[in-house]
Amino acid sequence: MSRKGKIGAAACVAAVVIILIGAIYFFLNPVILREGIFAKEIHTEYMEKFRVKDHVKWVFAGDKNKVKYSGKVDTSKLGSYKINIEYGKTSMPVIVNVLDTKAPKVTAIDYTTDMVEKVDINSFGVKVKDATPAEKIKVRMESPKKTENKGEFIVSITAEDPSGNIGKTKVKLIRREDKTPPEIEVGPALSLTTGQAIDDNLALNGTKVTDDLDKTVKLTYDASGVDTGVAGTYKIIYSAKDRSGNEAQAEREVVISQTVSADQKVVYLTFDDGPSANTAKILDILAKYNIKGTFFVTGNDASYRYLIQRAAKEGHTIGLHTYTHNYNIYTSEDTFFRDLGMVHDMVLNLTGIDSHHIRFAGGSSNTVSASFNSGIMSRLVSAVQNKGFRYYDWNVSSGDASGNTVPVERLLRGATGYSYNHICILMHDSSAKTTTVEALPTIIEHYKAKGYTFLPISDSTPVFHHGVNN
Ligand SMILES: [Zn+2]
Repeated sequence: MSRKGKIGAAACVAAVVIILIGAIYFFLNPVILREGIFAKEIHTEYMEKFRVKDHVKWVFAGDKNKVKYSGKVDTSKLGSYKINIEYGKTSMPVIVNVLDTKAPKVTAIDYTTDMVEKVDINSFGVKVKDATPAEKIKVRMESPKKTENKGEFIVSITAEDPSGNIGKTKVKLIRREDKTPPEIEVGPALSLTTGQAIDDNLALNGTKVTDDLDKTVKLTYDASGVDTGVAGTYKIIYSAKDRSGNEAQAEREVVISQTVSADQKVVYLTFDDGPSANTAKILDILAKYNIKGTFFVTGNDASYRYLIQRAAKEGHTIGLHTYTHNYNIYTSEDTFFRDLGMVHDMVLNLTGIDSHHIRFAGGSSNTVSASFNSGIMSRLVSAVQNKGFRYYDWNVSSGDASGNTVPVERLLRGATGYSYNHICILMHDSSAKTTTVEALPTIIEHYKAKGYTFLPISDSTPVFHHGVNN
């Protein structure tokens, strides 16, 4: 054999030996980790599920799904854990290091404010997402100096977890001069009876103040001009001032009604079936005489619903009539209360008033309901009261329900033909009742001349109830 041949044979033998040793090694240690061919230490992420399979690259002549381990890894605690990775009869000791290597995810939003507010990190709506609980994450804000000037400033927000991972985001702080006064929204007129005190609850209920830049703006009110002992119409003055000094004021009517005694002469003007185009005309007449009435409204014509808001603002009582004014509401108690709930919620959404004054379609004495459900009115009159509603019929009718454009003369005869001390007049402000509008000033003047006062329906109003006929 030549020298070259000898070397070749030796190399051949060496290669076979190495392959054999390798084969024996891998036969005894068949599991190869992703971390490296001879790696005996692996990293798993804090708070994430530890699965040994995720760390196995391949198994020498085997199936990686059959790799198991013994020992315990608690990924909810940072630290090192000893486990044995097992495959068939082989076992390999491995250290598992539970580490937090992921940075918190930070989000925040730009913030616009006036020249006055002292801005801190809370202004930017910072949200942090991380495996570590929020209270252990340090959130910091870094902004340029002099951010109290007018302009735009880049603010960087960082969140650092206890392992030193840092998440970052950048937002804008925008400073501009606030020249817009706050906006005050007052609720509908307050309807009180004599002797009822005005407290914060009453005065501030249904009111709202907002400002474009000052979220801390507060509403104050002055009710010193209201004499709660004397019936009349008064005003509460609301004021608000934002921190840049812009001021706003608003007024709200307070109608104080006298508690009604038996010998007092009082007229309750009531208008059913609106709102319609005639409602505005009626409101104008009532405003001219400075008289408050009561509107039992329906949901029939959405285009005039703003007049319900106007009537409420001007101190009239908003009562509930029926949403549909279809007599099939008397089919059952359920259908009746569904309809009543709709008109109730409509008024609540429009005005903020949770009205509990109602007038049945057709009055409580109607007989038309008998064709839908025998005896339903007898049940409804107590059912509505059990639910906290007060129902009102009338003791004087203008007669405008008998047809459209009933002559004014006839309406006057109907509306003014009685001399009870307490008069509740049924009228209608639906669109066809144009002669009701024409008759109204004369009706008002008739009762004024006889010394009556006009009141809107309130909880102190005596109820006018008919006899039930079904
Ligand atoms: Zn009606």
